Amino acid sequence: MGGPRDGRQEAIDQGLLLYFPAPGSFTAEDLAEFHCHGGPVVMDMLAQRIVALGARHAEPGEFSQRAFLNGKLDLAQAEAIADLIAAASEGAARGALRSLQGDFSAKVSALAAEVTRLRVYVEAAMDFPEEEVDFLQDERIAGTLAGIQRQASGLLKAAGQGALLTEGAQVALAGKPNAGKSSLMNRLTGEDTAIVAAAPGTTRDLVAAPLLLDGIPLHLVDTAGLRKRTGKAEAEGIRRASRAIKAADLALLVIDASLPEKTRRQHLADLRQEATGSALLALNKSDLVADPSGLATGDFAAALPISCKTGAGLGRLRAKLKKALGWDTAASGAFSARSRHLTALRATSAALASAASALQGKQAGELLAEELRLAQQQLGAITGEVTADDLLGEIFGSFCIGK
Ligand code: GDP
Repeated sequence: MGGPRDGRQEAIDQGLLLYFPAPGSFTAEDLAEFHCHGGPVVMDMLAQRIVALGARHAEPGEFSQRAFLNGKLDLAQAEAIADLIAAASEGAARGALRSLQGDFSAKVSALAAEVTRLRVYVEAAMDFPEEEVDFLQDERIAGTLAGIQRQASGLLKAAGQGALLTEGAQVALAGKPNAGKSSLMNRLTGEDTAIVAAAPGTTRDLVAAPLLLDGIPLHLVDTAGLRKRTGKAEAEGIRRASRAIKAADLALLVIDASLPEKTRRQHLADLRQEATGSALLALNKSDLVADPSGLATGDFAAALPISCKTGAGLGRLRAKLKKALGWDTAASGAFSARSRHLTALRATSAALASAASALQGKQAGELLAEELRLAQQQLGAITGEVTADDLLGEIFGSFCIGK
């Protein structure tokens, strides 16, 4: 116990100073931590004094970046620190901690090691051209490569779950005015986020709301409704709605079940024109229909009857939403991941697929080796063995200060 002193040698606070000598500290450098009474004035006085004595304020993520550069963490682990802090649910926090502890990195590194082993073997064989033909026909190579491909796609799937927990998904509500989009948004979020009104076309702009669906952070966007172009503001609203639907990971199409079937079919056709990606279809206001179970037929076979008024079908809708977003309830022990990792894993799978077709086509061993090199490089980008400086700036720049 003791106290830091200001320029006039007067005590600033009474607290605790912890010294972590290199290389055992978080960053592998000599590190000191001041534990003070947390008021902003005391903190500010202390920071000013420390700066006057020659220190400077840390950049966002600088501690994690130094830990990474000094080999204390790999890049995926460092990213997991930010994800742990930003975790929106217990599942996301647990996943981030698993990644921080190296679960994800270990899987990536194991895969990279397999790819490397195969590449070394291929390159060694190429040094003896007379053996190359035999070698490209070696069944064992094809078998090893197929095993690596399976491993890569399993990892991509698991990372997809992790990214869903970490980054969530964008879901756009689309439907004609008065279909019940705002009501559904309110039902799903459990809050009065969107404006519900009896007159068609009251939600002029996009209303967005965050929502946790069993720990998956969803960004729900209620669009302005796809109606006839009239006023200028309305046309802009429609453009934005269109963009939001295209940008979303999933569109949730809402149709008024109480309308005549012909009108419903027309509405569905109109909505499908906008929502060209993956979509879920909900037939709302099922409480106004005598036999809601008869609704899901023909064009509406995959539709889910719901009622925002009574709450009927909403539990099933939530379950369908999760499934459509790729959530696998059977998968446990998820680790956190980011879309950056998914991109790298997809590129890895693509390179491995090219490697397999090079092998099948009995093409040159060089091509096979090159594809394996590319796969290895993509995996290295996840853990940060191969990285560009601007990528590091981008990753650590999004951290909070002091981390
Ligand atoms: P939006 O224009 O698509 O956002 O539709 P709103 O959510 O504003 O709803 C339009 C009207 O339909 C409002 O009067 C709601 O109260 C009503 N409504 C919404 N969902 C249901 C439902 O499930 N059953 C019934 N009977 N009315 C509903």
